[in-house]
Amino acid sequence: MPLTVRPRRKRSTRIAITLLSGLLPILLGSVILYMQAERTLEQSARHTADEALRQFELMLDNTAQAARDLLPLAGETCEEVKLALREQVTRRPFVRSTNLVWDNNLYCSSLFGDFKEAVNEGDYHEGKLWLMNGNPVTPNTALLVYRLSDGRGGALTTLDGYHLSNILRLIGRETLLLLQVGNNWLSADGQVHQGPLPPLPVAQSMLVSPDHAFSVSAGFPKGETWRYMADEYPPLFSLLIFFGAVSGAIGHVVQKRSTSPSHEMLRALEAGEFIPYFQPVVYGDSKKWSGAEVLMRWNHPKEGLVRPDLFIPFAEHSGLIVPMTRALMQQTAALLGPQSAVFAQPFRISINITASHCRDLELVEDCREFLAAFIPGSISLVLELTERELIEPTDITLQLFEQLHALGVMIAIDDFGTGHSSLGYLRKFNVDFLKIDQSFVAMIGIDALSRHILDTIIELSAKLDLGIVAEGVETQEQADYLTAHHVNFLQGYLFGKPMPAAEFLRALSHD
Ligand code: C2E
Ligand code: CA
Ligand code: CA
Repeated sequence: MPLTVRPRRKRSTRIAITLLSGLLPILLGSVILYMQAERTLEQSARHTADEALRQFELMLDNTAQAARDLLPLAGETCEEVKLALREQVTRRPFVRSTNLVWDNNLYCSSLFGDFKEAVNEGDYHEGKLWLMNGNPVTPNTALLVYRLSDGRGGALTTLDGYHLSNILRLIGRETLLLLQVGNNWLSADGQVHQGPLPPLPVAQSMLVSPDHAFSVSAGFPKGETWRYMADEYPPLFSLLIFFGAVSGAIGHVVQKRSTSPSHEMLRALEAGEFIPYFQPVVYGDSKKWSGAEVLMRWNHPKEGLVRPDLFIPFAEHSGLIVPMTRALMQQTAALLGPQSAVFAQPFRISINITASHCRDLELVEDCREFLAAFIPGSISLVLELTERELIEPTDITLQLFEQLHALGVMIAIDDFGTGHSSLGYLRKFNVDFLKIDQSFVAMIGIDALSRHILDTIIELSAKLDLGIVAEGVETQEQADYLTAHHVNFLQGYLFGKPMPAAEFLRALSHD
């Protein structure tokens, strides 16, 4: 096919562009989804840390309240305050034990009553909180001790690590959640560790309690963003792949378009590859040449001579048919103009036009220029408009045909019998000729119905006083029939095939 033989880009480049236009939305979409997943994880970590913080504060508020209630009792004998200590343990949620201190010595405990143990203020973060890994009663079980002191007296209330690790486990679920008190931190497994926090590589979020000396850190392990995307985004990924495919297809089509028929034809037009062929038309009676129809051929550099039905539809579609016809008329004028003197009677030169020509008045100028190349009166110009695509009788078209007639240009309805032009239509456009479609001519002697239509057309043209041309005449029988029915002009292989200019000019001079 001539319209696709000259790709503008190399195949590999085209494939690369198609792939790129398909991959680009997928890549961009993936980046956006990745950022979205990161955002979601960050929000989730912050939310989790926030929730844990509130829970820990609630617990510590209870522990602190117990200490506040007991602090005024510091200094009194253990015997006197023992019950009060135990009462706090019973009344306050989360409080595991209560103790009183005098001069940095724990001297009374809710658990043991009289007791003796030195208190080291340095163990307590900000002097307030100590996250310890168990005590002699419950070794290896996390314990959070709250310290409140005033002068020589002090109260220590403890919170069971079980409650703490429970929160880390339950609220954390998908998130890594850690409670940090000074240099110590607690993980969801209930273990207390010393030293800096382990890294939480994805979406780390740290919240410091405004009321107590602890902080909460939340985050996710490495690779969580991808895992999250794989879990949550499969439908979006399917959508991305769909968009990628659509975009790739569009890229492909756009590229194809850029090497599309109209581009290729524009190039051919500029290169002068559209050339006229000439087919003689003869008088019905004498069979002498009455004129010729100009038929376009594409002299393609690679494909050779291309038939018009392979490219005229594209040319019409793109509007290129107008400049192509203009170029054809100019070539024809240049070839036949110098022969003006040879033409005995006005030589009828037929040019095919389309509906695109009828949108403005440019055609009038083209015809004027064409006629100017000939000795006045030596030719008559006939424009053939196919009945298959009839034009609307608008102001412009009516004006166009009026001006053409004023120039002496004649109008023929081509392929007559295949469309639906009415009598009114023929009159409105002041048609001069009907060209019987070759399908009816081919049926002469074969099909009675077609012959009937043919007879009707011939009759009609006589009644309307229109000239009549029969095309596609291939046999003597057809010619005889048409002549017998007074068809004025005959055209067909019987009298001559479409031929290149040189051959036509040679035949013309011998005619
Ligand atoms: P058309 O205007 O009906 O032209 C007549 C077609 O019939 C031509 O085909 C011609 O070669 C062919 N033909 C002539 N005598 C015979 C015959 O005895 N037997 C057979 N089987 N065919 C015969 P072609 O040249 O291939 O053109 C085909 C069509 O392309 C034309 O049909 C016309 O519609 C279009 N075309 C050709 N040149 C132009 C042009 O310059 N402008 C426009 N708009 N259309 C053109
Ligand atoms: Ca024609
Ligand atoms: Ca025709």
